[in-house]
Amino acid sequence: MTLQTLVTGGAGFIGSHLVERLLRDGHRVRVVDNFSTGREENLAGFVDHPNLQVENLDVANFTRLLPLMQGVDWVFHLAGLADIVPSIQHPLAYHATNVDGSMAVAEAARLSGVSRLIYAASSTCYGLPDTVPTPETAPIRPMYPYALSKYIGEEIILNWHKIYGLPAISLRFFNVYGPRSRTTGTYGAVFGVFLAQKLAGKPYTVVGDGKQTRDFTYVTDVADAFVRAAQSTVSGAIFNVGSGGTYSINSLVELLGGNVVHVPKRPGEPDCTFADTRKIEEVLGWEAQVSFRDGVARMLEHIELWRNAPVWDTASVEEATRDWFKFLSK
Ligand code: UDP
Repeated sequence: MTLQTLVTGGAGFIGSHLVERLLRDGHRVRVVDNFSTGREENLAGFVDHPNLQVENLDVANFTRLLPLMQGVDWVFHLAGLADIVPSIQHPLAYHATNVDGSMAVAEAARLSGVSRLIYAASSTCYGLPDTVPTPETAPIRPMYPYALSKYIGEEIILNWHKIYGLPAISLRFFNVYGPRSRTTGTYGAVFGVFLAQKLAGKPYTVVGDGKQTRDFTYVTDVADAFVRAAQSTVSGAIFNVGSGGTYSINSLVELLGGNVVHVPKRPGEPDCTFADTRKIEEVLGWEAQVSFRDGVARMLEHIELWRNAPVWDTASVEEATRDWFKFLSK
């Protein structure tokens, strides 16, 4: 059955993969994006698709958002500002987009009677977790404004379920990677950093001893988790979305090949992120399909996407993370 879907942040990295998946499944897709960090190139492969509609607006603009919600079956709320350092520098901007934006989406979805709202939450809410693999019941410890704003957004969505009966689910993502992850601007997301360094023939800036591990989750698996969540009848629930494993930075370097330089370990960084994914497996029947090895191989097939990305080195990393050390070293 063809459904009308709405994807906020549909021109972003994860959003564009979800849009692609929904179109492939035969659905109609309305993208809401203000193109602040979303990019037209992300939609280039399917921009002429007859089932795609793109609306350029800020997600917190309730007046413009409400009419776009009419007739929508499934809403996927991914629009948001990401990254740690800019969130420390501009907390109000993060609040406006991630918190006010989430309330605008929840309220517009409720008033329009949508059948499903799926929220893109972040595993950064766990901070430095006591338990790995980390279950959804772990204590909430946001450590910087980005993590806090994404967590408040989640609370809003779940409160709209409790108060108004809005059928909503929150998915907490762990280290999503894949083609189209952002290539310009802020220092962050290790894959973009390393692939640009590889193209430039420069050493990888490995943080600390590189033994820290991350639950790297491939983006098409994440798109699949969104669809599973929308198809289910479960509401008011939170699910971790992770790869089922955790992989060291050194093992990533090994798969990419090349030399390294080391940069200082950053304060407040977990040594390990690793999702306990039993809940989503049991309740939604979802499991990651793309292994780390295959995911990295696919990234290398698309390495040209990072041709114009900034090439970081030890000096520029130090500069870019100055506020990180300043504010999180407590
Ligand atoms: N990392 C690294 N070099 C870099 C950037 C990141 O070794 O230039 C490491 C970082 O220490 C972390 C992992 O890569 O263990 C993932 O970092 P990212 O910023 O992508 O995600 P997060 O730290 O938020 O999980």
